[in-house]
Order: sequence, then C-alpha cells, then structure tokens
Amino acid sequence: MAGSAGQAAYRDLRGLVRGLLLRPGDDGYDAARRVWNGAVDRRPMVIVRCADAGDVAGAVRYAVRQGIELSIRSTGHNVTGCAVSDGGLALDLSGMRGIRIDPDRRTAVVEPGVLWGDLDRRAQEHGLATTGGRISTTGVAGLTLGGGFGWLMRRYGLAADNLRSVDLVTADGKPSRVDGAREAELFWALRGGGGNFGVATSLEFALHPVGPLVTGGAAFYPAAAAARVLRWYRDFIRDAPDVLSAQCNLLKLPSAPFVPAELHGMPAVAVAVCHLGAEADAERDLAALGDLGPPLLRRIGRMRYTSLQRLYDMAGRFGSFVYGRAGYLPALDDRAVAVLDGRAEAVPSPHCIVMISPLGGAVARVGPTETAVGHRDAAFSVSVDAVWRRPAEAPAHRDWVHRLWDGLRPCTSGVYVNELGDEGPERVRSAYDPASWSRLRAVKARHDPANVFHLNQNIPPADGGTTASAEKTPVAVTEKVGVTSVHELRERP
Ligand SMILES: Cc1cc2nc3c(=O)[nH]c(=O)nc-3n(C[C@H](O)[C@H](O)[C@H](O)COP(=O)(O)OP(=O)(O)OC[C@H]3O[C@@H](n4cnc5c(N)ncnc54)[C@H](O)[C@@H]3O)c2cc1C
Repeated sequence: MAGSAGQAAYRDLRGLVRGLLLRPGDDGYDAARRVWNGAVDRRPMVIVRCADAGDVAGAVRYAVRQGIELSIRSTGHNVTGCAVSDGGLALDLSGMRGIRIDPDRRTAVVEPGVLWGDLDRRAQEHGLATTGGRISTTGVAGLTLGGGFGWLMRRYGLAADNLRSVDLVTADGKPSRVDGAREAELFWALRGGGGNFGVATSLEFALHPVGPLVTGGAAFYPAAAAARVLRWYRDFIRDAPDVLSAQCNLLKLPSAPFVPAELHGMPAVAVAVCHLGAEADAERDLAALGDLGPPLLRRIGRMRYTSLQRLYDMAGRFGSFVYGRAGYLPALDDRAVAVLDGRAEAVPSPHCIVMISPLGGAVARVGPTETAVGHRDAAFSVSVDAVWRRPAEAPAHRDWVHRLWDGLRPCTSGVYVNELGDEGPERVRSAYDPASWSRLRAVKARHDPANVFHLNQNIPPADGGTTASAEKTPVAVTEKVGVTSVHELRERP
C-alpha cells in the first residue's frame, strides 16, 4: 500500500470490519476498483468489501474521523465512476447479496450488491416483480435511490415508488431504519436524491403480480423511415394502456444471433415493447404496429419476464467505454423529430443507441413533490449513449454524442439524475423540481452537514451545513458496530 496513511488505515480497519480489505498490490484489488465504465481508472487507498451493515457503519465512522474521502460502490454501474476515488476509502457492497421474498406481504428485502437479474428470478418464483433496470446485471441500490426506470414503471411506478423502507448508515456512522413513519423526510429524500444521505445497507420493495409470461421484443424499421416511426410512436404511446410500455430507439443492428447476417450493422429505428397483459390483449394493443408497414425485422412474442429483462444485456458489458448525454422531453414534438431524423445512419457502432423511453401512467400519477424524483410530468426521457471497446475509438464516439446532443438539448428540460455524466452542479440541480431542491438541501444539512457523501450527483447542504467535503466530525471509532442489518436478512455470525 502506498504511503503510511494507507498502512495505518489498513491496520485500524482490520480491527473494525469483518469483511475483506484490499490494498494496492493485493490479489483482487484491481478487479475491485474497476467500475462498469472502462474509461474510469481510479486507485482507492483501501477498498472495504463490507460483509454487513456493521462493517459499513465501522468504515464510515473511521473514514469520517480520519478525513478520508469516502465512496460507495454497490455494483459500480454509474457512468461517472463515482463509486471509486483516487486515494479514498471505497465501501464495496458487492458482496452483500442477500434477498428475502415474502410472498404473502408481497415484499422483497434486498442488500445493495444484489443485481436486478437475481431479484427478478427470486421474485418470479412467486409470480411477482417490481420495477427494475432493463439490464439484468445492473444493481438495485444506486438505480433505485436515483429514481429507477424500467419496463414496469408505467404500470407500477418507478423503482423508488416501490421502496417501502431502507436500512441506512448515515454520516455519523449510525445505522437506522428509514421509512414513511420513521424519518419520513429522510425517506422522502432517499427516493430520488441518490447516495447523498447515507449508505443503504438493505432496501425493502413492494412486489406485484407479473408474468411469468409477458409479450416483449422489438420491431426494426429502415432508418429512412425514422421521422414517420417517431411520429407514429409518440401518438401510439400517448394512447397506450399502462400495461404497455414501448421505447423508440435509433441504432445499428447488432451482429447478434437474432439478426440475419445481411442486416448486421444496418442503421434502423426500433420500437421495443413490453406488454404485461394476456396474449390476446397484447395482440390487440400492438396491432397498430401494422400501420408502419413491413419491418426489416420483427422479434416480438411471448416470453418469460426474466427473459425480457435480459434482452438488452449484450449492451451492458462490464468494462465498456461509455459516454452519453440525456434529458427529459416534455413532448416528442416535430422539432425533436427533425433533430433525430437521419441520425441513425451516423450511429458510430452497434452498441451505441439513442433511446426514447416513455414516462406517463403510474409515474405521472405520483405528485411532483411526493418523492424527490423530478420531472414526472415529462412525456419521455431521451438518452444518447456511445459505447465502445477500444480507447482509440473514443474521439469519434464522443463527437457523435456532442453533435446530436447540441441539436437535441434545446428540446429537453431537466435530466434523470442516474443518466447524468460529470456535467456540473447546474445540471444536477436541473434533475429536480425547484421546491424539492431546497428541501433536499435541508435534509442534507440535517443528516450530512459536512457533505461526507459528496462523490455522487451532489446535493450541497443548505446554508448552515459545512461544505468542506471531508471535514472531520467528532464521532468515536472504538469498536465494531454490532448490527447485521435492521432488516435481518441473514443470521448473525
Ligand atoms: C448497463 C447499464 C444499464 C442501466 N440501466 C438502467 C435502467 O434500466 N434504469 C435506470 O433507471 N438506470 C439504469 N442505469 C443507470 C443506473 O441507474 C446508474 O448507473 C446507477 O447509479 C447504478 O447504480 P449502482 O448501485 O451500480 O451504482 P454504483 O456505481 O455502485 O454507485 C454510484 C453511486 O450511487 C450511489 N449508491 C450506490 N449504492 C448505494 C448505496 N447502497 N447506498 C447509497 N448510495 C448508493 C452512490 O452515490 C454511489 O457513488 C443503467 C446503467 C448501466 C451502466
């Protein structure tokens, strides 16, 4: 480990945590410091692979007392790579993967290292599911705390709308259970405010009956038809029932087994769908696709919900280089359509995508300040994501994003916080309703006045908080904190 500070931290933490400690040079250190975005290459002073909430609490107390910068890594999917920092202490929660399903109460309690694929599989054993990410290898924690988009959201709300309680370790190193009755204001802030308020060591979700079979897949049309497909799509989804969700994406067809070889690499506009109803209802509600004429390729059918949740997995390879921009579209008006028309041809490689996802339905029925998530009244979220594998491909991919975003940005208003890159404080603020922003800052000042949790899309404490990011606060670090989890997912050792 480089430096005496690192040696001291390792020695002290050894007595405080049960989990594995990883220092530079240790086996497993390089794998543990990696995040999903391969462009991020940071070297924490020490990585604490937490075994339980007690480890989290002990490590938080220690880092705060020593003034060591603290980062939270659940599954490392955030594109900014804020899960790790150079010279800091990374709380690695990837080993905390407990899941408990209560089919009678229709709830799931999960630890932060759990992937959506794991939760989907376990919940589907009981015919249940909750809104989760569209790639099965994404983790539950950061996605949910930022809001949580997924196929089920028009029917059952955002992932955050399904949160019932959170076990949280706050900046003072204290674990507690936060829900609508206990610390209601903090619970409000957790649903959209991301990792600003503490470390979630377990999350309790409401589950709903889903599947096991749903109708899903995509129809692909020639890129030249983009304007027509986009206009059709906005009318189609406006009138769609909540059980139907559909995205409209610009892309190049991948060299995947489901695509005939002659179509590989062809620019296209895709309508991807998920219908939760009976087969006959899905056929009726999707019949309007016929108005678009014959597609290049249609792969829509009955499938397991767990299969639908894996359809995009090939685009989610860990270690990919990624760069993107995103925003909410109040409407997919003709100006936005004109910007997007003709852009599929310029998509630089097959894992790059322009993705238009609908809100509406249950998302829009939650009041604008009922949770901290902003822009619930937007019609769509749009993202322009470049994904590539070799560093030399970076300039062309970033250039593509900027060219397209320059045209698209004036059509947008605000942004989904989990789709933000490192774009500065104004963009973070634009993720929230102005009234919610002030409220979030007040909650931050109360629970994290020194901004210990600042490696995120940061919400600075309201005036009166101390903004020095790693200022020491007077907490004692003397003993292991004797909790596993308030939710008691696992047996105590
Ligand atoms: C391939 C891919 C697919 C995606 N698909 C979707 C999607 O379908 N829907 C969607 O809404 N988003 C999606 N996202 C975006 C995703 O929501 C964010 O990247 C999210 O931050 C990832 O969460 P994580 O737990 O992996 O975060 P990490 O990268 O591990 O951590 C990032 C930050 O999240 C916060 N955080 C993470 N865990 C905790 C915790 N336990 N307690 C407190 N704070 C925490 C912290 O601030 C931390 O710095 C996707 C991202 C990728 C890369």
